[in-house]
Amino acid sequence: MIHILLLVPVWLCWGSFLNVLAYRLVREQNIAKPRSRCPFCNQQLRWYDNIPIISWLILKGRCRSCHHPISILYPIIEILTAIIMTFLIILVPPRYISAYFILFSALIVTIRSDIETMLISQYMTLFIIPTGLVCSYFGLLPVSLWQSITGSIFAYLFLWTIANLFLWLTGKRGMGDGDFELLALIGAFLGVKGAWYTLMLASTAGSFIGISLILFGHASRNTKIPFGPMLACAAIIYTLLKYVPICLVCFAH
Ligand SMILES: [Zn+2]
Repeated sequence: MIHILLLVPVWLCWGSFLNVLAYRLVREQNIAKPRSRCPFCNQQLRWYDNIPIISWLILKGRCRSCHHPISILYPIIEILTAIIMTFLIILVPPRYISAYFILFSALIVTIRSDIETMLISQYMTLFIIPTGLVCSYFGLLPVSLWQSITGSIFAYLFLWTIANLFLWLTGKRGMGDGDFELLALIGAFLGVKGAWYTLMLASTAGSFIGISLILFGHASRNTKIPFGPMLACAAIIYTLLKYVPICLVCFAH
């Protein structure tokens, strides 16, 4: 157990990198260069202003030079990454850890970019689908290659159909292409059943959160709530729950 906790700083740093990916990919910036800068005063960040969580706390969530607030999403994503990856190591059989590590990293990037900009980078969805297929082919995922392929296609087409029916009936766009591509990625790693459970879990959580926000006056019926983070969280929860011994029955193993 101790050696698992020793990895927490590594996961926090990984979360910090995922923050950079999330910020730069949807803005179509180079992910390797230049070094991180404050987006408001353009001041290059020093190494000690880049330490996960600690720097944000010491600077009280503001830039050192221009004092502009720094998004609270930075520490939240770092902590979320550390929690998710720690559970991944504890619960999931070693054989499947590498594939899920790739999936979870892509999902965490998606959570951040969708909350912040309502955009999901295809580099974190469509471009990673082949990795899911390769992993299932080599037995690095508990689904067959056939399940991966059908999962991906079923997920995309199902959500696409629902969104277009919704558009046709109400004249409003409830979901975007990014959501279909995200569920296609989830289907490639979790198969048809996994994509289906993810969608059910995400829709339930989404309705619950939406209704709560309206009831408590934080949103109106026309407020747009990004669906990507719900799908991403649901996929992570579904994957991890399968390996909690007491939940094995729930998913009919
Ligand atoms: Zn600044």
